[in-house]
Amino acid sequence: MSSGQLDNEKLGFETRAIHAGQEPDPLTGAVVPPIYQTSTYKQDGIGGTRGGYEYSRTANPTRTALEECLAALENGARAFAFASGMAAEDCLVRTLCRPGDRVLIPGDAYGGTFRLFDKVLQPWGIEHAPVRQTDLDAVDRAAADLRPRIIWAETPTNPLLAVVDIRALAAIAHQHGALLVVDNTFASPYLQRPLDLGADIVVHSTTKYLGGHSDVIGGALVLKDPGHAHALAFTQNATGAVPGPFDAWLTLRGVKTLAVRMDRHCANAARVAAALAGHPAVASVLYPGLPGHPGHEIARSQMRDFGGMVSFRLAAGEDRAVEVCARTQLFTLGESLGGVESLIEHPARMTHASVAGSSLEVPPDLIRLSVGIEDADDLLADLLQALE
Ligand SMILES: *Cc1c(COP(=O)(O)O)cnc(C)c1O
Repeated sequence: MSSGQLDNEKLGFETRAIHAGQEPDPLTGAVVPPIYQTSTYKQDGIGGTRGGYEYSRTANPTRTALEECLAALENGARAFAFASGMAAEDCLVRTLCRPGDRVLIPGDAYGGTFRLFDKVLQPWGIEHAPVRQTDLDAVDRAAADLRPRIIWAETPTNPLLAVVDIRALAAIAHQHGALLVVDNTFASPYLQRPLDLGADIVVHSTTKYLGGHSDVIGGALVLKDPGHAHALAFTQNATGAVPGPFDAWLTLRGVKTLAVRMDRHCANAARVAAALAGHPAVASVLYPGLPGHPGHEIARSQMRDFGGMVSFRLAAGEDRAVEVCARTQLFTLGESLGGVESLIEHPARMTHASVAGSSLEVPPDLIRLSVGIEDADDLLADLLQALE
């Protein structure tokens, strides 16, 4: 899977986002990879495929363009695109694990990831154990006890914005014969490249920053070395949770502007976090960019900037948090994140309702913001009036 004449390793991130996997169309010169809206391909005699394309569940050129671009952005050997982030996770675990295998998951894993392990994979014999991954000794002990096949990490985490040390987790995983999988959805490859820090596989919900415009659901896996590529391609094709060509195209269109969008997301989020930190109605602000954040130094060592997600707790408790969510006008009440528009949500009742009653339950006075790329002054004014 090389991308034509470009030597991606020599090119900067922004250049790869726009050109990797996206050579002008050989037939017409179209600068943008076409939407190959086709299910099948004419063969020049039986088995005589053109470029290996035979059926679009197996491969489609628009999807190939996205996959090559994502591999280049994460400095990986191969990438696989899926119909959603959850489909990518499911494909990965069912490829790597067998009944009896164990996975260490974050103590505050994304709710959908927890639900996949707890409600879908566990009945098929794949066990999981939540561990607070900011406590590296606890991870090491759990890995020694449970001999997991995978250590699954997220950083920063959702919605508590904890930062975990990818280099240290990779060392622990490899010492115990496990693979380190990092869900890099919150940071995006522009801010953080887990494979460069020692992780084996990166997971994305491309629905979020990579797509970036809240108009498409998608997921991806990126591998550091091609070792698992054959098995993953097999499961991807056998189970079929692939994105359609238009979804792949929309995601790739979003990826082109990832770097400029992330710069603005980060700048706006830093201003929002600073304003909230000084506000009397706010009990605490969870943002890795704040010097008082427990993961600030680790974030500095493994991220380019601190991202666009900000969570905060209301001094007056849950009812007030719910009220603030109802009072913002620019911050739209909604799940998801990573789009150009700002969103606000109440994790305990919305995105993380599926972990209620479990050890992953989130505080009821918590609000999560996905800070968009609007005018920062407008965003601050909106939050201040909602907190009044
Ligand atoms: C949204 C999300 C997912 C799931 O992705 P979908 O595209 O919604 O299936 C996984 N991990 C994280 C961190 C997410 O935010």
